[in-house]
Amino acid sequence: MKLSLFIVFALIGSIVYLLSLVLVLRRREHNPQAARVLAIYLGLSGLFLLLQAGAEQGWLDFLASEILKQIPAYGVFVLAVMFLLLTQAILRAQKFGWAWLGVGAACLAGLIVMDAGVIALPATFRIGGWSVDASILKLGLHIAVWAVFMVFATLLTVRILRRTSRFYTAVSYWSLVLLSTVLGAGLIFAGNLLIGNILCLTGTLLAAYVIAMPRLPSIGHLMRRGFSFLVYALLAIVLYTICLVAAQIILRNRSDLSPAVAGLAMAAFLVFIFNPILGRVQTNVNEWLGATYKDPTQMLRQYSQSITNILDLQLLATVAVGTASEFLEVQRGLLFLVEHEKEGDGKGFFQLRGVRGMGEINPEPSVLSDDSPLVAFFRYEYRPLTRAELEYQPRFREIAPAERTWLDNLGMEVLVPVYAKNDWIGLLALGPRASGAEYSEQDLALLSTIADQTAVALENTRLVEGLVRLNNDFRRAYTALDQANRHLERLDRTKSDFISIASHELRTPLTLISGSSQMLLDDPSLNDNSYYRQLLSKIYNGTVRLHEIVDSMLDMAKIDTRALELETQPISLDELIRAVFVELKQASTDRKQTVEIKDLEELPNIAADMEALRKVFHHLIINAVKYTPDGGKITISGHLVEPNLTDLPRGGIEVVVSDTGIGIDPRYHELIFAKFYQTGELALHSTGKTKFKGGGPGLGLAIARGIVEAHHGRIWVESPGYDEVNCPGSQFHVVLPLRQTEGIQAERAAAFQNQAS
Ligand code: ADP
Repeated sequence: MKLSLFIVFALIGSIVYLLSLVLVLRRREHNPQAARVLAIYLGLSGLFLLLQAGAEQGWLDFLASEILKQIPAYGVFVLAVMFLLLTQAILRAQKFGWAWLGVGAACLAGLIVMDAGVIALPATFRIGGWSVDASILKLGLHIAVWAVFMVFATLLTVRILRRTSRFYTAVSYWSLVLLSTVLGAGLIFAGNLLIGNILCLTGTLLAAYVIAMPRLPSIGHLMRRGFSFLVYALLAIVLYTICLVAAQIILRNRSDLSPAVAGLAMAAFLVFIFNPILGRVQTNVNEWLGATYKDPTQMLRQYSQSITNILDLQLLATVAVGTASEFLEVQRGLLFLVEHEKEGDGKGFFQLRGVRGMGEINPEPSVLSDDSPLVAFFRYEYRPLTRAELEYQPRFREIAPAERTWLDNLGMEVLVPVYAKNDWIGLLALGPRASGAEYSEQDLALLSTIADQTAVALENTRLVEGLVRLNNDFRRAYTALDQANRHLERLDRTKSDFISIASHELRTPLTLISGSSQMLLDDPSLNDNSYYRQLLSKIYNGTVRLHEIVDSMLDMAKIDTRALELETQPISLDELIRAVFVELKQASTDRKQTVEIKDLEELPNIAADMEALRKVFHHLIINAVKYTPDGGKITISGHLVEPNLTDLPRGGIEVVVSDTGIGIDPRYHELIFAKFYQTGELALHSTGKTKFKGGGPGLGLAIARGIVEAHHGRIWVESPGYDEVNCPGSQFHVVLPLRQTEGIQAERAAAFQNQAS
């Protein structure tokens, strides 16, 4: 069997189609629909190539000769239909044209019916003044229907080319595919099956390449490199040929020269003269074409130096995007600060705040939830993400609509994550390149390096921003605190003013009432009437109680305004406390309480204001009576306190008033010493002055503390807690310093000496 060149080509071509088909199906991940259509396209191409070969060899002679003749034309037509669908799929046109498939099938059926002679056609047609041969008309029809599909494919390519720069590279490759397919089909129609099929094969392989490769090198770049290589190769061939020819001529003329020596001389000549010249020429050609490889080392060094001291996010964004742009001619870019935060329900999310580095772009902030595919990519993949990957990879189909809109509005071509200690802290987002070329692997590696170098500076700006924010928060909190403090001071002053005014204003009418009621009580005519006597004694007792309250208010006002004047004199605490107890004995007896006063006799005298201290112990003992249930025990004891450097340089006396009462919650141990503070609910207080839990104005302990502190002493309470059932009791401690006795004695001695002299 004699194999023609076309048959050999057809066999090899169909194997190549088959291999490409497998390759496309294996790498269909980033554009599955286009890959599927391309696989069908490749299969059909291979099949038609084999059919053409079969027809050439006469294996298909059983078919009608008219149909046999048209097999290449049918093939070209079917492939044109598939090509339109493929164009739609690869350029991601909105909807896939199933309708075109139907139209294509109908046209093919029509052509076959026409060719098979099912409808008898005249041998020649007369159109106007022209007579046209039926075979020419048929060919014209074949070409016309084929052209319709190819024109649509071309229009689609052009429309998408106009609409977007995103697929610039894919579209430019696709134009090449289109060109070779159209040329190939034209040649097949013209009867040149070999060259036509070679061109079709080239176009189809290019299409397979576009679909199978996730990232395409820029065509311009490829062409520049190809051209540079071509120049180099041509020059080398010319130079080496000249050299060889020259050597041959010399050897022929000089038979005395040994070929080894001549070879050696020629090799030396090539190595030392020609090769450097060739290298130089290639560099010049590259420079002229702009295809030289720029070494980024210097730029990266400069970049890392210039950003070390940057603490401002805006400046950092400008420098980072500017550096990327210098190398890759980026048109616009942003830098996002990424912060991981948690919602109230514990769900995490990433907050992205952007700053414009370059170009017309609005850096919209965004929030990406922890389960977003984008977050999964940036947190764990440590590499840039390109627009193509975002479009093609199935895992990004799950992106939430809000995140998708954000990405679309950004219109960025590549997103380069920035990490600090493996944490995702930033995102460098770059727009399309000025040349329209896609980012190559090399470019992405360079961007990753820029991102790595940006990490430290970004971390610094983040920390500084955090500090500034913290500082502002502190300042705001401080201002609020200051205001609250001033407000409290004002309130406290108002309270003090109120106490002071009220007590002064109440005192005079009260004195009048109590004086008058006293006089009425003493009046025998009224005294004889038991009803009046009862009423009058109630009025009198009421005024006495009121007097006490007003006196307490006056004391408080004096303490508040620091107007408390102490008249110090040596005092025996034992005598003082016993005197106070005598006043309250009746109350404790009424309540069946036992009171024990112990260990006070031995204590030294203390220099203090008698009246003031009397009030202190009055309030403490009356409280003990009030807050201890009937039958309870009150103990008043005292002991000496060793000197200490902080507050008792000469030591002191501690008096403890303890009871077996209801106790005080530790939370209120300090608060009860504030004026008007009462732990219990007011409404629950019983009214009697010494009754169990009897109500009071809430001034007793505040006055006691004021007086004790005016004596440079301390007062505090100890109690396990509040419990009306188990009655854990409370201990009120009063420590008074001993120093003042000596001071007073010295003062008295000095005064005595003054008088004497
Ligand atoms: P009041 O006039 O209400 O007694 P105080 O300033 O004397 O005011 O006391 C303030 C609050 O401290 C009281 O309302 C009471 O709740 C609590 N308190 C004072 N002394 C005792 C005590 N010995 N046992 C239990 N609670 C006490």
